[in-house]
Amino acid sequence: MAKIVIIGAGPTGLSAAYHLEKKGFVDYKLFEKESETGGLCRSIYQDGFTFDYTGHLLHVGDPYFRQFINDVVGFENLEIITRRSFIYSHGVFTHYPFQVNLHGLPPHVIAECIEGYVTRPVSRKKPKSFPQWVMQSFGEGFAKHFFMPYQRKIFAHDLKNITTSWTGRFVPTTSLQQIIAGALQKPNDELIGYNAQFYYPKVDGTAFWVNKLAETIKAPIHTNCSVTKVDITNKVVTFANGHVEPYDQLITTMPLDRLLDIIVEPSSSSLKKAIPKLLCNKVVNFNLGVSRNVSDKHWIYYPEAQYPFYRMGFYHNFAASNAPAGYSSLYGEFSHINASKKKVAEMLATSLAATKKILGIEDREIVTEKVVHIDHAYVIYDFWREKHLAKIHQQLHAFGVHSIGRYGEWKYSSMQEAILDGKKAIEQLIMLPAHQSYYMPAAAPSSSKII
Ligand SMILES: Cc1cc2nc3c(=O)[nH]c(=O)nc-3n(C[C@H](O)[C@H](O)[C@H](O)COP(=O)(O)OP(=O)(O)OC[C@H]3O[C@@H](n4cnc5c(N)ncnc54)[C@H](O)[C@@H]3O)c2cc1C
Repeated sequence: MAKIVIIGAGPTGLSAAYHLEKKGFVDYKLFEKESETGGLCRSIYQDGFTFDYTGHLLHVGDPYFRQFINDVVGFENLEIITRRSFIYSHGVFTHYPFQVNLHGLPPHVIAECIEGYVTRPVSRKKPKSFPQWVMQSFGEGFAKHFFMPYQRKIFAHDLKNITTSWTGRFVPTTSLQQIIAGALQKPNDELIGYNAQFYYPKVDGTAFWVNKLAETIKAPIHTNCSVTKVDITNKVVTFANGHVEPYDQLITTMPLDRLLDIIVEPSSSSLKKAIPKLLCNKVVNFNLGVSRNVSDKHWIYYPEAQYPFYRMGFYHNFAASNAPAGYSSLYGEFSHINASKKKVAEMLATSLAATKKILGIEDREIVTEKVVHIDHAYVIYDFWREKHLAKIHQQLHAFGVHSIGRYGEWKYSSMQEAILDGKKAIEQLIMLPAHQSYYMPAAAPSSSKII
């Protein structure tokens, strides 16, 4: 029996393993359902092109994460890049963020945004829903021309049911002076917002950094091992191949709704009732390799309803190695919540046709194509989640189950946070009272075998 079992070898599970080993703890096993490690931070190599699971850009804000990247990945292997991102609406490209770069938009749009900002409802009460927050922070014009249509597309959900708790980090607020300056003069995008600068591996796409992390793990990583049952009373996980693994503490990074679906819970518990309430969208990520350089931008937001996708980006502008010289490696993203197969196929066809039209791509120029379906993409921050999520985690904790990471915790978070989540979980586990502590400084070799 391994004292600790980790489910999932994405960045969070790998980070948990890395931090266990760093503490000298060897009595653990790491299981991954796919044939390779990396989770959503893998890359696809196809016909000379590199595609990620849509743009995966490294934001290094936390001092510990900076040190971690330095030690594990090496900054010499990463390019630091200043964002070239745009919004396409009303037939023009404006620089991101929209709210401080109105220059170039039709005069009536600029007027509506400024008037809306000046006359926005001022209230001492904290806004509850996302639409209220947009109205109070930016006003009607910005809501109409960017925030509402864009977020409606990305969440594919009624925005009135969405809270404000995720907005702080992702949506930069502004001032009247910045808005007017941005309406009168050319771009002012350089260092505004969390993603103004980012790192990206020089070779092998985003997978490069997460592969470096996997290479540091000394214990075997058991790939092709899909967990199909978690008996939280008897503390046993069962795999699709029939293998059974008892544990003392379970760290799981698989999506929380899937975990609740496969747990065997005691009759006194009602965790399964939460499954239909945990909402997230699915993203369809279409990737194209094109025999010509179609753009010098990093990515473009498409808020208008006439385009089914919400964003398009260009991997070859993150790293030249992502496409053959002079060629393009591009991605588009659209989202839905449980749309029918037929509807998804229609959206994909419309998206591909629009992409080709916008960029003037001829069929003969398309070298390769790859469509990826991301079934857990953006967690929906609705009011149910706000009220009940913490209780689900508390109940799981009581059974020695620690559900962490972007989908384990059911949240909107980055690769940096995945590493910090894995670290935090291990710190909390080894800080248990002495009689329950698993900290074992002696480094006996792991007895785990590939199953
Ligand atoms: C569209 C999109 C764009 C993004 N862009 C960025 C970006 O630009 N920058 C950034 O920092 N972050 C970005 N992210 C977030 C980033 O992908 C996540 O923060 C990160 O992947 C979370 O890591 P994780 O290990 O928690 O989850 P995951 O990467 O999902 O890993 C979970 C692992 O668990 C495995 N697993 C699941 N079920 C089982 C099972 N039953 N048995 C065994 N194993 C199982 C999975 O196969 C997977 O390997 C983006 C996310 C999305 C969806």
